[in-house]
Amino acid sequence: MYIKEIRLNGFKSFADKVNIELGKTFTGIVGPNGSGKSNILDAIKWVLGEGSIKNLRTDQMSDVIFNGSKNRNASNSAQVSIVFDNSDKLLPTEYNEVEIKRIVYKTGENEYFLNKEKCRLKDITDLLTDSFSSKESLNIIPQGKIDEILLSKPEERRTIIEEAASVLKYKKRKEATLKKLSNTHENIDRVNMIISELEERVNPLKIEAEKAKEFKEYKEKIASYEISLLAKDITFYNSSLENRKKEKELLEEKLSDIMKDSSKDNSDIEKSKLDLLKIDDNISIVQNKLNEKNNSLSSLKTRKELIKERSKYEIDDDKIQNNLIVVKEKEASLKSYLNKINLDIKALNKDLNEKEEKLNVLNSSFNKINEKKNKIVLEINNYKRKEYEFKNRIDILDKSIKDLDKVPYSVKSILNNNILKGIIDIIGNVIETTEEYNIMLSVALSSCFNFVIVENEENAKDAINYLKSKSLGRVTFFPLNIIKPKMVDLETLSKVKNTPGFISLASDLVNYDKKFYNIVMNQLGNIIVAKNADSMVKISKLIKHKYRVISLTGEIMNTGGSITGGSLKINNITSDKYEIIKLEKELESIEKTINNSESSLNEFNKEEDKIRNEIYSINIELVKIKELLKEKDIDKKQTEEEYNLVSEEVKTLSSDSKSSLDEEFNKLLEEYEKEEKEKQELLSKLETLTKEKKNLNDDIFDKENIIKNLNSSYNETVKKINEIEIENTKNSVYLDNLLTYLNEEYSMTYEKASSKYEPLSNEEEARSIVNELKKKIKNIGNVNLNAIEEYERISKRYDFLISQKNDLSQSENDLLNIISDMDEVMKKEFKISFDSINSEFSKVFKELFKGGDAYLTLTNPDNLLETGIDIVAVPSGKKIKSLSQLSGGEKTLTAVSLLFAIMNLKNVPFAILDEIESALDEANVERFGSYINKYKGKTQLLIITHKKKTMEYVDMLYGITMQESGVSKLVSVKLEELK
Ligand code: ATP
Repeated sequence: MYIKEIRLNGFKSFADKVNIELGKTFTGIVGPNGSGKSNILDAIKWVLGEGSIKNLRTDQMSDVIFNGSKNRNASNSAQVSIVFDNSDKLLPTEYNEVEIKRIVYKTGENEYFLNKEKCRLKDITDLLTDSFSSKESLNIIPQGKIDEILLSKPEERRTIIEEAASVLKYKKRKEATLKKLSNTHENIDRVNMIISELEERVNPLKIEAEKAKEFKEYKEKIASYEISLLAKDITFYNSSLENRKKEKELLEEKLSDIMKDSSKDNSDIEKSKLDLLKIDDNISIVQNKLNEKNNSLSSLKTRKELIKERSKYEIDDDKIQNNLIVVKEKEASLKSYLNKINLDIKALNKDLNEKEEKLNVLNSSFNKINEKKNKIVLEINNYKRKEYEFKNRIDILDKSIKDLDKVPYSVKSILNNNILKGIIDIIGNVIETTEEYNIMLSVALSSCFNFVIVENEENAKDAINYLKSKSLGRVTFFPLNIIKPKMVDLETLSKVKNTPGFISLASDLVNYDKKFYNIVMNQLGNIIVAKNADSMVKISKLIKHKYRVISLTGEIMNTGGSITGGSLKINNITSDKYEIIKLEKELESIEKTINNSESSLNEFNKEEDKIRNEIYSINIELVKIKELLKEKDIDKKQTEEEYNLVSEEVKTLSSDSKSSLDEEFNKLLEEYEKEEKEKQELLSKLETLTKEKKNLNDDIFDKENIIKNLNSSYNETVKKINEIEIENTKNSVYLDNLLTYLNEEYSMTYEKASSKYEPLSNEEEARSIVNELKKKIKNIGNVNLNAIEEYERISKRYDFLISQKNDLSQSENDLLNIISDMDEVMKKEFKISFDSINSEFSKVFKELFKGGDAYLTLTNPDNLLETGIDIVAVPSGKKIKSLSQLSGGEKTLTAVSLLFAIMNLKNVPFAILDEIESALDEANVERFGSYINKYKGKTQLLIITHKKKTMEYVDMLYGITMQESGVSKLVSVKLEELK
């Protein structure tokens, strides 16, 4: 490497653009004092990044810009470029030529360029480190600074060795690493602070989240039971309301019948009472008449007796007369008796007619009831036949399920085998769903329906061997420990979730024991269910036929896009199970109908019994009346016969006796007879009236009794209706509460709840579990449901920070290890370089001083990373205690010895020296010159000098002049002229 060119423009006295082209050889720069030679070295240091205004010999950085002269205006900027030939790649870059440029503007703006690209100062210093080309390098010695090498602090001097040992780059890296280390440490502190803050929150949150999780878990568990219970209770209260409503309607009908009957009976009673009054009037009229008749009869009787007495004295043949009177009396009495019998017969016939009429009415009611009964019995028989048929069908289906009739023979032989181990069931038997999804499930499972679940693959192997050995056919087995679940990926799921017609994933529409999770997910986890064929095609298209889509009606869109569909007949265990459920429902309604019909039949039976009893008593009465009539007929005939005989006798006796008395007696008798007849009629009338009165009274009594019964039945019915109303109000409140609870707690309608949730097998147990869980929830107290998410978020962050802290600690350790490795390298390289430079320094010193002794010492050999370096130099024959005691020339030669020692050992590409030999005498300049001559071809030399002797050693010479006052110019000087 060497400097090819230095370009200055506006830098200090170089107001104009000046290009100093250099070869790899020795170049001298000469010129009068103050012409600007040292400004060139300043420019080199400046472009290499010098930032010290003292080293640049200015008061402020902008002083490096040409500040004008008498004839020239000041420049706006100063710029310097240095071009290195880097074909030996001493600088760690791929370029053969490296140009570094620095510009400073009056405004204070400062820019660096590396091969025309704008860059940072760091990029330049990094590039130049350990290449003997940085601004601090020992081989760039400004005017008057030679002493500084010897007089600087021991710690400052160690840089010389460090550069020679090429450890500056490590030092820089170490600094950067230390900075990183400190940043890492700060980060760890920061992370620790956040962690401890989070720790304060994370633990209470964890407790809250656990509480919330527990709460949610209980809630979910409650839901799994409670929705079924709610559906059941709602069904119960609903049907109870319906039943009660019907019951109430019937009671109301009954009530209206009662009221109708009661009002009819009441009006009948009123009518009867009116009739009774009339009868009473008639009775008293008849009674009065009867009294009159009795009076008249008694006076007639008296008169009769008087005539009889008179006849004893007036009539001759008193015997005949007396006899006639007696016979005539008998005749009159018989006639009167006959009259009475006739009246009795008339009354009995009337009674008979009435009773027969009543009997007819009762008979027709009896027949009507009988007809109704027969109809009901027929209905009951029909339903009972149906009930029998349904029960029979259920038994057949039950048996078919138990006997595995719909399972292939091979599968059956495995399931029924008691020797084989680990056989669980067929897949179709462990998955359940509602009827709505049965077609979809059967299609989704298809032939897998009859695949056999086993505990493990060993069980499957044993079963296969068994099938083989018995030639029983083939069976597919699903070992529980092997089968893995299949799922629809979340991206696809979120894509289809809101598509119209999307129902769910098939696995979410079925119920199963959670130990079959893997098997169910394997078969149904990756199947999407659509409402119908249209939505199925749309969804399948949307997901690019990635998963199977099945419609509720049984069409399948397979992965890849093929479609299966057509008519479908499901014939498996599940279809049998659904048929049983359907039959059981119908059976329940049939049994209800039978019960209702039987209770109606009972009512009719009771009514029939009542009518039958009435018919019986009327028949008895009829028989009695008929008997009485017969007796009366006989009596009548006998009395008529007797009367005829007595009449004949009267006629005979009357023809024998003719007297005035007789005539009077006859007249009296006729009158008596007439009165007696009328009396009998009145008596019969009185009897009829009395009977009528009794009947009416009985009737009123009966009716009043009926009304009494009706009233109590009315009250009872009203009471029942009231009770039903109270119960209905209570039940409808319960129902409302249940529906509201279902809606508010589970956002579910009754229809959904009852179709999605199966009835529970053990309801009591479920209710007590729900109560227990509700108690537990109450005990949990206030719950913050957001805590779960919050805790997850915070604990995620906490875990992240802990892992970040671990990462940071790891990188802190790594950085410490790197630093320690670098320290080791630096120590080693420093020591090696120090030792070799030390011995070379002694050698060069002895050569330049023609004797004497010089060497380097470490101020702190135990700390090679920080030790300073002392120089001991004792020219021959002298006793020097400190370097400051050396003469100017001696100091120069000592410093030069150190520079040459390094140049001897290391590849120093160039040396830029500003009048370092100015303090040397002619002989020493010569010694310096001839020593430096050794570096020709190896090290480029740029030397600013006033010494002619020195000029002899250079290959090229530039002169700096200030022809125009204040502006430095470059002129080439012919060496020959000088020599
Ligand atoms: P010597 O041989 O005495 O060491 P030299 O040739 O090395 O002299 P320099 O020290 O390089 O001279 O130059 C100093 C000159 O540069 C001074 O005349 C000074 O006025 C001039 N100079 C320094 N800074 C500026 C600037 N910003 N603008 C113009 N001229 C400047």
